[in-house]
Amino acid sequence: MIKADVVIVGAGPAGIFTALEMLNLGSKKKIVMIEKGMAIENRRCPKAETGVCVKCRPSCHITTGFSGAGAFSDGKLSLSCEVGGDLPNLVGERKAQETIDYADSIYLKFGADTHIEGLGNTEAVRKIRARAIKAGLRLVDCPIRHMGTEKAHEIYLSIQKHLLDSGVEILFNTEASDLIMDNGRCLGVHIEHKGKADEVRAAHTVVATGRRGADWLERICSEHGVEHQPSTVDIGVRVEVRNEIMEEVNEVLYESKLIGYPAPFKNKVRTFCQNPGGVVSQENYDNDLAVVNGHAYKDSKSDNTNLAILCSHNFSVPFNQPIAYAQKVGELTNMLANGHILVQRFGDILDGKRTWQKELDQSNVKPTLRDAIAGDITAAMPYRSMMNIINFIKAMDEVVPGFASYETLLYSPELKFYSNKVSMDDRLRTNVEGLHCLGDSSGWTRGLIMSSAMGVLMGRELV
Ligand SMILES: Cc1cc2nc3c(=O)[nH]c(=O)nc-3n(C[C@H](O)[C@H](O)[C@H](O)COP(=O)(O)OP(=O)(O)OC[C@H]3O[C@@H](n4cnc5c(N)ncnc54)[C@H](O)[C@@H]3O)c2cc1C
Repeated sequence: MIKADVVIVGAGPAGIFTALEMLNLGSKKKIVMIEKGMAIENRRCPKAETGVCVKCRPSCHITTGFSGAGAFSDGKLSLSCEVGGDLPNLVGERKAQETIDYADSIYLKFGADTHIEGLGNTEAVRKIRARAIKAGLRLVDCPIRHMGTEKAHEIYLSIQKHLLDSGVEILFNTEASDLIMDNGRCLGVHIEHKGKADEVRAAHTVVATGRRGADWLERICSEHGVEHQPSTVDIGVRVEVRNEIMEEVNEVLYESKLIGYPAPFKNKVRTFCQNPGGVVSQENYDNDLAVVNGHAYKDSKSDNTNLAILCSHNFSVPFNQPIAYAQKVGELTNMLANGHILVQRFGDILDGKRTWQKELDQSNVKPTLRDAIAGDITAAMPYRSMMNIINFIKAMDEVVPGFASYETLLYSPELKFYSNKVSMDDRLRTNVEGLHCLGDSSGWTRGLIMSSAMGVLMGRELV
């Protein structure tokens, strides 16, 4: 049995920034971090060499290990509290923005690029905004610091070294299996390391298990009476076009954050995670679900830009399991693609036909996810989501002429599972004494900087 003052489950940005802020404030408390993946220097996605996903066991290197889903992420820090989660609703807009700015200063201290995209260019931004308004879309202002995939890796490596040198104990390849509960209080976590069971006892348990830990946390919440509400789920596609089409928006804004409510359903549809000169990538969940994502290297650029178009889905009665719903959509899409990601041209969707590989070979837009299977995403996409996406892409075409061209590629499934929202007060306390939930797994964040900021706030509470 290990004894600590604070045990942090998950070494993603939320968990890391909790420990960093405690150290920054001079805390002498014993901090133990439990991470089911590997140290950052050992994280390697074999696909970089093999070209195909080999479905790593026990866990996917892309999403597990030190720095969590951040290690291979594009490293785009969206510096506005309007983007990346609901933390402002929990702690107030001003505090959320101040903490985001503070977390950003820590990334800078560890070597992030000082340049910020999307600032200035006011006349150019005004023109884009005017076109968005005409198309019925809202352009959200959001300055972005782009670390880039390789640089993000280096920054997190320095942070890992700093934590270890400062005495934080990090147990890699170790999974938290359950909470230790006594009379409604949380006393730590049960852990498993290479098949051996152990436990870490601490006055404070911080669960920061990310999107990958959403299912686990949902079970924990239900079993131990941790108050939570079902959250939304986003179903969408990853769109890929040539850089020439996105040139203006890429140069002026780097990332265009557009929101619309297209007819006939008027659901919220938005762009997310735009990667100029980037690549489309695949992530695998432990339950074998393959989902699409995208990122961009800082120095090596492709001919294409990709971004996600996402539709939010909520349910009420009699069914209220958004995660299970999106999983079924993903499984069906994977089934049609023989376990892979499906890709289809936008024009083929409108023409009601599947896309064939030979048609992709003839296109200007060459898929950067080379093992994606040409096919028919409409055979698995719910009608409502598909109509939302089609009508949003048509509106986008007014902002970015050529966006809705025949050759535009749509990859599926692009799913964002936001964990059930854990009920917490503004000091990040759950209804269970000694238990705190942070970052993407808490349902309150969806991005690097907001999960990092939430970690900072947690660190200040636990110091
Ligand atoms: C490919 C990709 C690209 C992205 N690009 C961007 C981007 O450019 N900008 C942006 O803002 N966001 C991006 N994101 C999202 C961003 O990475 C996440 O929002 C962020 O990492 C969330 O931080 P977190 O600490 O809450 O969780 P995570 O980063 O997911 O970390 C959680 C950690 O907990 C560990 N864990 C889970 N369960 C257990 C358990 N039971 N026991 C022990 N350990 C456990 C996991 O291994 C993981 O390391 C991207 C995500 C992906 C996958």
